[in-house]
Amino acid sequence: MDENLPGTNDHRTLKLPKEQVLEIFRETRALLEGHYQLTSGLHSPQYFQCARVLQFPKYLHLFAGEIAKHFELSEIEVVISPAIGGVVVGTEVGRMLRARTVFAERKDGKMELRRGFEIRPGERILVVEDVVTTGGSVFEVVDIAKNAKGVLAGVGYIVDRSKGKIKFDAKHFSVLQLDVVAYKPEECPLCAQGLEVIKPGSRGNY
Ligand code: ZN
Repeated sequence: MDENLPGTNDHRTLKLPKEQVLEIFRETRALLEGHYQLTSGLHSPQYFQCARVLQFPKYLHLFAGEIAKHFELSEIEVVISPAIGGVVVGTEVGRMLRARTVFAERKDGKMELRRGFEIRPGERILVVEDVVTTGGSVFEVVDIAKNAKGVLAGVGYIVDRSKGKIKFDAKHFSVLQLDVVAYKPEECPLCAQGLEVIKPGSRGNY
């Protein structure tokens, strides 16, 4: 699967096949399969940590390329991402689209532009994120763009964990929809099988 990875000059119109994306997630251990306790306390047969796949440049390039291709005719002038998860993929998408690239970060619980970053009125904005579950951070970044009178031209993310429920007020695109499967511990079929539950070491995307 390392051969013929699509680049920005590849005008394929087909999305990457879901099975191919899942295979990359499994290979890089971004997607673990077993019996996990999520940060919510719920149990799941899967644990997903997107940063693990993005540590490999070829896969960062591949997934960012899918997003960049989707918006290549949208005349994007600024790519903006919520820190921290979105920054790596936002930077790569911005590079591919040759767009100025900034990020928003939380200060006292509120998402804002810092470091002298700004959005000018009328600029065409693409919001980029790694994983969307409730969409909270992305909605906050969308508000930043709108409050600055930017034009929201699109929202792109690698993984949609919202079961397709989150809708943004612009053209949006995800590389993969990966539904969260979760059970209350007392109703967990894996517990019922007597399988040991694993608590992943760091906070995930839940
Ligand atoms: Zn369980």
